[in-house]
Amino acid sequence: MKIRTKLTLGVGLLFILITLLTYVGAKSINALKNDTENILVANYNTLEYSRNMLMALDELSTDTTAIEKIKENLNKQQANITEIGEREATEQLRQHFSQLQLNNFDRTTHLLIRKDIAEIMRLNMEAIQRKSDIAKQTAASSTIWIALTGTLCFVIAFTLLINLPSNIANPIKKLTQSIKQIAANDYSQRVYFEDHSEFGELAQSFNTMAEKLEEYNNSNLSQLLFEKKRIETLINNMNDPVIGLDENKKILFANNEALKVTGLQAAQLIGQQAQDVSLINDLMRALVKDLIMPQENTGDERKQPIKIFANNKESYFDKEVIDIAIVPTGETEKQHIGHVIVLKNITPFKELDFAKTNFIATISHELKTPISSIKMSLQLLENQQTGHINQEQKQLISSIKDDSQRLLKITSELLSLSQLETGNIQLNIQKSMPYQILKFAIEAVKTQAEQKKIELITEIDPDLPAVKADTEKTAWVLINFLTNAINYSPEQSKITIAIKQNAGTVNFSVTDQGKGIEKRYKDKIFDKYFQVPGSVKTGTGLGLAISKEFIDAQNGIIGVESEIGMGSTFYFRLASI
Ligand code: ADP
Repeated sequence: MKIRTKLTLGVGLLFILITLLTYVGAKSINALKNDTENILVANYNTLEYSRNMLMALDELSTDTTAIEKIKENLNKQQANITEIGEREATEQLRQHFSQLQLNNFDRTTHLLIRKDIAEIMRLNMEAIQRKSDIAKQTAASSTIWIALTGTLCFVIAFTLLINLPSNIANPIKKLTQSIKQIAANDYSQRVYFEDHSEFGELAQSFNTMAEKLEEYNNSNLSQLLFEKKRIETLINNMNDPVIGLDENKKILFANNEALKVTGLQAAQLIGQQAQDVSLINDLMRALVKDLIMPQENTGDERKQPIKIFANNKESYFDKEVIDIAIVPTGETEKQHIGHVIVLKNITPFKELDFAKTNFIATISHELKTPISSIKMSLQLLENQQTGHINQEQKQLISSIKDDSQRLLKITSELLSLSQLETGNIQLNIQKSMPYQILKFAIEAVKTQAEQKKIELITEIDPDLPAVKADTEKTAWVLINFLTNAINYSPEQSKITIAIKQNAGTVNFSVTDQGKGIEKRYKDKIFDKYFQVPGSVKTGTGLGLAISKEFIDAQNGIIGVESEIGMGSTFYFRLASI
């Protein structure tokens, strides 16, 4: 039965019982009242009139109004006849009273009147006795009815009192317990109520919810575990070492490759603080250095590949540190949750690069000798030591000479670069005089400038200090600047070579009136083999890259300032002594 129906029935029944009890009580009281009133009106008044008439009869000789009093009470009695035989007795009294009115002092009449009154009184006394018995009976039956109804009310109310609260509270208690269990992640909880009340429906809904939660929980967990396993396998199968750290630099995972290259066991890495591991492992120190001490990060170091002895040979790895950030559910701000360090194995590229460098070094070295002998032969031909040459032949010789000169420049640049790449270049850093470097460079490019009718202007600070440099390599850089300036300047223009001293450094610069360099290429022109698109392809694109290597190796600074259409200024700065 539904709780609502139960409550309605319970309260309704109580209401009916209270109404019934009230009705029975009121009815009984009313019956008693009627009985009492009956005695009072019908009999008590008659006794009162009879007593008054007897007293007046006694006072007849002394009281002149006695006759009137008897008459008055007799009239009242005549109007209050209620019992059987009372009418006849009262009629008789009236007749005897009529005789008394004729003769007040007749003893016999007195006696007859007294007898009549006594008869009336007897009749009423008997009636009182009888009616009192009836009232007693009414009271007794009323008591029984009230007691019966009261007991019924009590039994029903008591039953409701015992059953109704527990009927409502028990299922709620059971449900509360189950909800608490579910809150504590025990999704196996179910509740069953046998009746078909609202609690039955509630239990059914609760069970459905618990089932869904259990299913969701199980499926979620197993799915998550499966996905976790999948990602772990994926990371483990990667050829590159991968290490994951949380936001507090605690190591969360490291794949097999990472364990191999670090030479550590999983237990020595996973779950440990990166700082602690870096104390016992050199490679880990190199990997997490930037994370632990970002202030010491010079920027340049990161670009250097890490050399590790792995796979039974020297291997090269590019370190990449990826910041991991997520937007937590319900939030809008990104939250940093850790880092992933990936070591990209670049050994195959490095090996190819080495092979290429060696090849270039060998070729350029091998080409130098034949080119030099071509140049010498051309010199002999030009000096006409092998015979007379006509004008046309002279021009051909001159063009071969230019080409072999270019060839020589290219091979020497390639050689220098390969030497730089293999680390085979030796710098002879010593006290060098800027004038000497300048003189050397101007001497080298003078003819070239003259051919294009370009004026070389020098602006040199007096009393220049010496610089810490390799004279030959520095002169090479200046020559490269000047050669470029001549190549990329129009004829009859001016090139300014300035050497100025400034705060412990000496600044060499070459300013031309060429077409300038676009902003986006300013850094790129120092990269190997780069040539500004659309410019005259006279060289190899190596000159500035080699120049940068030379200046960097001498701890100097190299750069360019240029604006399109306004010419360019290439400069390098070296420490003075
Ligand atoms: P290249 O042998 O091609 O001159 P460099 O490394 O010396 O190689 O120069 C790289 C590129 O920079 C050149 O190809 C050219 O496009 C540009 N460049 C160098 N110097 C100048 C200059 N003075 N004016 C304009 N462009 C220049």
